[in-house]
Amino acid sequence: MVAQKRCPDTRWSWVEIDTRALRRNVRAFKDLVGDRVELMAVVKADAYGHGAERCVPIMHAAGAGQFAVATVGEGVRLREAGIGYPILVLSEPPVESVETLVEHDIMPAVFTARFALAYGECAASHGKVGRYHLAVETGMDRIGVPWDEVVAFRQQIDFHRGLECAGTFTHFATADMVEDWDFELQLKHFDEAISALHEAGFDTGLVHCDNTPATVIRPDTHMGMCRVGLGLYGLHPCDATAPRIQLEPVMSVRARVVRAIYPEIGAGVGYGMTYRVPRRNIQVATIPVGYADGLARELSNRMEVLVDGTRCRQVGNICMDACMFAVDVNPARSMNPAHPVSAGDVVTIIGRDGDDEITLDDMAEMRGTISYEVACDFGMRLEKVYV
Ligand SMILES: *Cc1c(COP(=O)(O)O)cnc(C)c1O
Repeated sequence: MVAQKRCPDTRWSWVEIDTRALRRNVRAFKDLVGDRVELMAVVKADAYGHGAERCVPIMHAAGAGQFAVATVGEGVRLREAGIGYPILVLSEPPVESVETLVEHDIMPAVFTARFALAYGECAASHGKVGRYHLAVETGMDRIGVPWDEVVAFRQQIDFHRGLECAGTFTHFATADMVEDWDFELQLKHFDEAISALHEAGFDTGLVHCDNTPATVIRPDTHMGMCRVGLGLYGLHPCDATAPRIQLEPVMSVRARVVRAIYPEIGAGVGYGMTYRVPRRNIQVATIPVGYADGLARELSNRMEVLVDGTRCRQVGNICMDACMFAVDVNPARSMNPAHPVSAGDVVTIIGRDGDDEITLDDMAEMRGTISYEVACDFGMRLEKVYV
């Protein structure tokens, strides 16, 4: 069924990106926020491992008007790929980056006067205006100008003709918890900061605060724009979002068997030989996916892979660039594929195969982390195939 999956020429393991699912997820969010609210697609960390250069044009066509990255380098790579849409760096980068920002027309988040003025100075010297978004600290204690100091901050920098405030934003620490008091307090602080800026006569630009969970759970807080990351990739940040928006996973991770053997009973598998072949008719198959590809070593001997819609146990310690799994071809044991595997067979590490599926959330739970991290990890080195 997955035997004819497209696969890179150079290595038998890959991340498969379902571009139709991506398009549908972006449309679902655009429908949710409506025409009057901008949708900013968060494409930091190479679009959460999905490949930003390829995802951005698809997202734009499906309704995302702006894009957010975490680093200046990520923004520059998008510009060099020919992407001309507005790009925001979600934190204030080092002051040494201002030339690069101005040259590539990438907006920084701003929360120190020193950075803002250096950026404005640089923009002015190039005959440009440096557009920025003001980061407001409302309670997450990560970045931003304290919410009750925003007017004083703007008074400090607004004399500069090289600066233009294109947006004012904050970020929630607990948006994935429904009816959370800390969320309400952050929201209240943000509202007060925005009102104070307006009363003092400052232009705030686009006002925005919502990430994926806030966008889905709290439509009353959409304001001028929503910054959506995880949801666009088809993942739910918490249980509360699942009944409210229909999303489809975009990323699958697959490999092909490079070799399959029948070791002797008692033979060890992998570094440290943490698995020993217990019976006859156990096949040990190798796939070229390891911890440097995002398959965390702590999953060794604990995870499963799918072959022809059937679960097989991963065995032995996961290596840097490969791992092994066992196929029990003893006909008396029915939990494994009815037939042995051979070189070239497709194995699913994340995704659907037949009637069964292993999700990024399943793997995140096994690892004691969140799907965000698992997706980013698989994006690190594996080649991506867009289907
Ligand atoms: C990562 C990030 C987002 C997107 O969060 P999701 O939960 O993936 O939607 C939005 N805003 C800021 C400031 C972020 O750092």
